[in-house]
Amino acid sequence: MSRSRAVVLAVVAACSKAPVAPDAVPTADAPATVSIDILAFNDFHGALEPSPVGTGGAAFLAAKVASLRTPNTLVLAAGDMIGASPLVSGLFHDEPTIDVMNAIGLDYAAVGNHEFDEGTAELLRMQHGGCHPVDGCAPGTTFTGATFGYLAANVVDTTTGHTVLPAYAIREIAGVKLAIVGMTLVGTPATTLASGISELTFADEVDTMTALLPELRAAGANIVVLALHQGGGQLGDPDQCVSPGGPVFDIADRLDPAVAVVLAGHSHTTFNCTRGGGRLVTSAGVNGQFLTHVTLEIDVATQAVVSATAHNVPITDDVAPDPVVAGIVTQYHDLAAPIGDRVIGTITADLAGGSAAGELVMGDVIADAMLDGTTAQVAVMNRGGVRAPLLFARSGNEPVDGQVTYAEAFKVQPFNNLVETVTAPTSSSRSTTGLGSCPPRSRA
Ligand SMILES: [Zn+2]
Repeated sequence: MSRSRAVVLAVVAACSKAPVAPDAVPTADAPATVSIDILAFNDFHGALEPSPVGTGGAAFLAAKVASLRTPNTLVLAAGDMIGASPLVSGLFHDEPTIDVMNAIGLDYAAVGNHEFDEGTAELLRMQHGGCHPVDGCAPGTTFTGATFGYLAANVVDTTTGHTVLPAYAIREIAGVKLAIVGMTLVGTPATTLASGISELTFADEVDTMTALLPELRAAGANIVVLALHQGGGQLGDPDQCVSPGGPVFDIADRLDPAVAVVLAGHSHTTFNCTRGGGRLVTSAGVNGQFLTHVTLEIDVATQAVVSATAHNVPITDDVAPDPVVAGIVTQYHDLAAPIGDRVIGTITADLAGGSAAGELVMGDVIADAMLDGTTAQVAVMNRGGVRAPLLFARSGNEPVDGQVTYAEAFKVQPFNNLVETVTAPTSSSRSTTGLGSCPPRSRA
């Protein structure tokens, strides 16, 4: 719907309800509708540098955000900004990614399951700053924490009875009050080490949203944007919505109509869907390879959404990289290089891809390595724990073809999980679990 068409509809809607007094007619100083833009991404996972095929990269993501930003723009994220990160971020407990998100101008981020990978105290350090209690700060750096606000509406600290981080934020933009609510999936405990979240409960997403609405409305916010770290999928191109399915759609369809937009995550998929009532449900893939650009046209008088559209914009090197963000990435790359650039092995072909049934070549190699390093008879590696392939031919500043660096190997398995050998209780044979204290499970 065009902007002019939206304005006409808004005026008609107002007139159909009640006669409009002459002095209430919108003027050039008080437009009938305002356009609010949301730039959103999810599951960044510390991907500061572009992928081997040139997609993503924090400096290009920052440049794209800057090019699309208007005075009425919110920049939002739907969880897993940190955790399962490459060495350039993971080596420094993801402080580099927080620094980069600050430079991008991120406003709010929902927590995802991976925000809890190093426990609640560490997540709160990401928000508030301070050096790591064991490893300190990276040489030559201080860490002041996120300038954006983490939101966790459904994550309750059982010792206090309160959410571990704010549930929502309300922003007034051009005369419109928007509520931004952030949540992670209720199933977060099934994907996260129990020791890090023992004092937390994760509540049902729909129940949480329903309970919040009176408070949001009392604060004057009748339009809600929900950043929800829960996912789904569809069969079309990244900007399409072909045969969509998955838990985020089941949740979205049960939400109050006040929720105009659901920014999804967790599944590392792309979709741009419009559900019943015109509600948008979108997801921007993984690793900053896409940016979802949402435009809401809002009737100022009624505080109602007149139209809502979205596009998934690919992040490539078609823009000049943001120099500030590029500088942060280079700083940490250079700090990590003495460890990351060490050659720890060689390969003669790509360790990539897999079968239609889901078996991964890289997963087979990891399981074989477990067998080689233990006395086990069976080794198991879960698919979700394999985070990257190893490629024979590399580009950019990577070394000679076939050489595998520590940074590349780290990217394959960045979880700091250990191989654990156990004896199966019902027989004398032995088996090995691949994820230490984590049973095989999805790690999106
Ligand atoms: Zn996730």
